[in-house]
Amino acid sequence: MVETQLRARGIRDDRVLDAMARLPRERFVPEDRRPVAYADEALPIPAGQTISQPWIVARMTELLAPRPGDRVLDIGTGSGYQAAILALLGARVTSIERQPELAATARVRLAELGFGDQVEVRLGDGSLGDSVGAPWDGILVAAAAPAVPVSLRDQLSTDGGRLVIPVGHLRRQNLLLVVRRGDVWEERDDGPVVFVPLVGEEGFPG
Ligand code: SAH
Repeated sequence: MVETQLRARGIRDDRVLDAMARLPRERFVPEDRRPVAYADEALPIPAGQTISQPWIVARMTELLAPRPGDRVLDIGTGSGYQAAILALLGARVTSIERQPELAATARVRLAELGFGDQVEVRLGDGSLGDSVGAPWDGILVAAAAPAVPVSLRDQLSTDGGRLVIPVGHLRRQNLLLVVRRGDVWEERDDGPVVFVPLVGEEGFPG
């Protein structure tokens, strides 16, 4: 997976490649999908959601570029895979999920794999971010929003806080990197992507 899907297709950050090589992806997919856990595709998880394709996880992590000790907000916990990758890079992660079943399973799974101290899983509407924990060094959103949520922009740290988020229509989005410097937010488009919707106050209606 690391050589043929990630390195060969442009993922350069060795820390990201190393984390993706170390984390057992089969522990994050339903049992009947374990044989294809490392396939080059998103896979279904409970509650009608998906665990993102490995390349997308790597790309979003590379764009977020978390440094050890950074405080990172991960929105859309799903299986917990992305949160674990961020933790392997040394980030302290708060992960928010709106589906109770997924939040509960991810919490147990992450604790079993030894991430209990580094990742906190919370139930709630992540489209509003987490103002109590702000400012965040990084915010990663693994679900599609109709526009960059103002709450998330405002919760970025003013000295280079980074937000990675798919923005666009329900069936097609662009992956954006937003970097905050003071009260200036620089936006970069990283290309087309397809994500499940961010459902919430600053996302799509349920
Ligand atoms: N990062 C996950 C994949 C996430 S799929 C992984 O590594 O497995 C997107 C997730 O976002 C789904 O689990 C969905 O339930 C969740 N989601 C959608 N809207 C949300 C919201 N407003 N707040 C928190 N989670 C949300």
